[in-house]
Amino acid sequence: VDEFGLIAACFKPLSKGYSGSLNLTDDAAIVSLPAGQELVVTTDAISAGVHFLGNEEPALIARKLLRCNLSDLAAKGAAPLAYFLNVMLPTDTTPEWVHGFADGLRQDQAEYSIHLAGGDTIATKGPATFSMTALGVIPAGKMLRRCSARPGDIIVVSGTLGDSALGLISLRGAAGDEYLINRYLLPEPRLALGKKLLGLANASMDISDGLVQDLGHICEESKVGATIRRPLLPLSKPAAAMIKNDEKLWDKIVGGGDDYELLFTVPASKKQEIGALAAKLDLPLTVIGEIIVGDSVQLLDENNKTVPLANKGYRHF
Ligand SMILES: [Mg+2]
Repeated sequence: VDEFGLIAACFKPLSKGYSGSLNLTDDAAIVSLPAGQELVVTTDAISAGVHFLGNEEPALIARKLLRCNLSDLAAKGAAPLAYFLNVMLPTDTTPEWVHGFADGLRQDQAEYSIHLAGGDTIATKGPATFSMTALGVIPAGKMLRRCSARPGDIIVVSGTLGDSALGLISLRGAAGDEYLINRYLLPEPRLALGKKLLGLANASMDISDGLVQDLGHICEESKVGATIRRPLLPLSKPAAAMIKNDEKLWDKIVGGGDDYELLFTVPASKKQEIGALAAKLDLPLTVIGEIIVGDSVQLLDENNKTVPLANKGYRHF
C-alpha cells in the first residue's frame, strides 16, 4: 500500500470542510476558537480482536470509532469541531479496505458536522489499530463533569440500555436480532441532548463500560452514592423479549457496556424539564433512581431487594 497515494485519495477530501486542517499539507493543523469558548478534547483507541471483531465492513469500524468519540463530546455538552486520526494497518491491507474506511468517515462527517484536521498512517505487523482524538467547543467553564452530582439529584439515562451488549451476543450467535446488532455496530452520539444539558444537569457522562460501573465513576468523583431501580431501566422491545426468556441477561443490561447513551444527574426540582426535553428531542429520557449520601451504587429489584452486582462492567485489563 502506497501511503502517500492513499492519504491523498482517501483522507485529504475528509479535511476539506475544516480550514485549520490546511488540507493536510503542513506539519500541523491550526485550531482557532471564538471568544469565550474553550476546547473539549477526547481520545480513543481501538484494536481488531479487542474492541471490534475485525471482519466488520471497514465503513462500520470507522463510523463507530468516530461516534464513540462524539459520544464523549456529547456527554460533556460540547459541539463537534474537528478530529485527528492515526491509522495503523497490517501490511496486507488492501486499498479497497482503506477506501471503505474513509467512505464511512465521510458519511458520518456529513451527519455530525465534523471534519478531519490531521493524523498519520503507518503499516504494522500487529492487528489493525486506530486512534482518534476529537475536538469540541463549549462556552468557557461550562463542561459537564462527573464530579458534581449531589444527594437528592435524580439519575437519568437516554435511550434504552443493554441493546449493544445483547447485539454482540446476537452477532456471535446464529440468528441475530437486526435492531440489537445495529445498536452494537452504530451507536448514536446524543449530541443534541448533551447541548441541552448545559445548565440543567449537575453531572454527566456517556455509558461505555456499563451502567453500574459508569454510575460508580460519577459516585466516586462526586463522593456520593446512588440507588437505581431495575424495574425503571428503559429496555427496547427486542431486549425486553430476550430478558423475558433469560433473566440472567439483566447482567448485560446493567453491566454490558457499549451503550453510548448519556447518564446524568439533575436536581429533583428540575424533573419536569426532563419530560419536556424528551418530547422536544423525541428521545426517551428515563429517571432510573437517585443520588444519595453514601459511597456505592445499589441496584434494587422489583421487590426492593438489593441485586448482587456480579458484572460491574467491562474491564480493560
Ligand atoms: Mg466517556
